[in-house]
Amino acid sequence: MKSLLIFFRGLMFLKTTVTGLSFRTISREYITHSFLGKWPQGSALTTANVTSHLGFGRFGDICRKHYSEGSHHCNVGTIGHIDHGKTTLTAALTRISEMNGFAKFVSYEEIDKAPEERSRGITINATHVEYSTKLRHYAHTDCPGHADFIKNMISGTSQMDAAVLVVAATDGVMPQTREHLLLAKQVGVEKIIVFINKADVVDEEIKELVEIEIRELLSDFGFDGIETPVIIGSALLALKGDTSELGEQSIKKLLNVFDSYIPNPTRDYTSPFLLPVDNAFTVPGRGTVVTGTVVKGTLRRNDDADLLGYDKNIKTTLGDLHVFKKSVAKAVAGENVGALLRGVRVQSVQKGMVLCASNSAIISNCFLAKVYFLSASEGGRKKPVTSKYIQQLFSKTWNVACRIDFIDGVSMVMPGEHATVSLTLMKKMVFDPGQSFTVRENNRTVATGIVIEVKPSVRIPKSNLSKVIHE
Ligand code: GDP
Ligand code: MG
Repeated sequence: MKSLLIFFRGLMFLKTTVTGLSFRTISREYITHSFLGKWPQGSALTTANVTSHLGFGRFGDICRKHYSEGSHHCNVGTIGHIDHGKTTLTAALTRISEMNGFAKFVSYEEIDKAPEERSRGITINATHVEYSTKLRHYAHTDCPGHADFIKNMISGTSQMDAAVLVVAATDGVMPQTREHLLLAKQVGVEKIIVFINKADVVDEEIKELVEIEIRELLSDFGFDGIETPVIIGSALLALKGDTSELGEQSIKKLLNVFDSYIPNPTRDYTSPFLLPVDNAFTVPGRGTVVTGTVVKGTLRRNDDADLLGYDKNIKTTLGDLHVFKKSVAKAVAGENVGALLRGVRVQSVQKGMVLCASNSAIISNCFLAKVYFLSASEGGRKKPVTSKYIQQLFSKTWNVACRIDFIDGVSMVMPGEHATVSLTLMKKMVFDPGQSFTVRENNRTVATGIVIEVKPSVRIPKSNLSKVIHE
């Protein structure tokens, strides 16, 4: 009977893993059992198959199939003004990588007939191609239209580790060059690599001027205008098989810069720890246990900690820690952990709270954010949005009522447009820059956005969001 039960559990686990169902279902049950000491021996839960559920978006999942274990993966993308050669460069990158034996060539035409993607109800035209170097696997996003680039970046559909800013030497910096770069900064793209394109049709002096102009722009937007690599070349020549400096050589240089300038994603074990709470339950005789995946830092038994969210700041101390069924002295970033909290009642813990090192994070109810409002054809509103717009906001595992106000003299935004907004949440939450969210109205997603800045909390008179006074 017992072995039958174990077999059945094993089957259920496999099903959960294969269908990619919520990671939480496995981990929570697993940890509950580990605390209670009931989990069957010999279960197939290993670090490898659990971590495979973490940290990758949908696109990451597709790509993971194509590169061997152990090699690093990076997400990149082309940004820049229309007609500056982003798609040509994307095709050229796959061509050179194919010559090196690391990819399949994807033609300009294939990239440019970008398939429509439905992501959280938003239609984004985007093509994802992949290529590799000896060191890394790259997933590369190229969007055909300006609006697609904006939506792609705001919705966090393909979060880029680095963006290639393509600037045609014939034009220099143009309006969309600025807008894409600013947005890249706001959504937290860390590294920019510049490709000055169409160098085949301008003289040396112009190339130099364009490079100076771009470096200034990078510095203005808070990127490293001095150290940022700038490569001068011609995507079109490279695509046509020209072997000169401006042709294939420039693309090879670009790939080398990818490898050397984009850092390997590393886990952060040294920052104060942060663990978004997935679940909380009581272990009889022990106390309240919260579970979740450590985002950064290291948890140790007896550490002081704060439990933050929904207006609450609960001081506690960590008791027993469990990782994969075992009681451990410490748990590090990337691990799924169950932590016993001293002096905390299970009723006061809610999914969506954050457990963090004492005094290392703040809660607020006021934020600056970039928001895209879905068009009617994307399932969004038909009518424009005006300030004092109050709806439910969803992020990660929580949702809270929010109010949206436009700033910079904007009074109204049409569906299909984007804007910088002031966000007021009904409850104070940990809501970090770079964190994405959606806004829903009558169970429809009407907007998607990303936090840019945390502002000091505002008072909400009588818990009524419409009474908040914004200057
Ligand atoms: P995108 O809108 O940024 O994706 O730009 P495309 O890749 O579609 O290129 C726009 C136009 O510029 C096309 O006609 C390309 O053939 C041309 N083009 C792209 N790269 C080069 C280049 O290096 N030199 C020249 N002369 N033309 C280029
Ligand atoms: Mg294009």
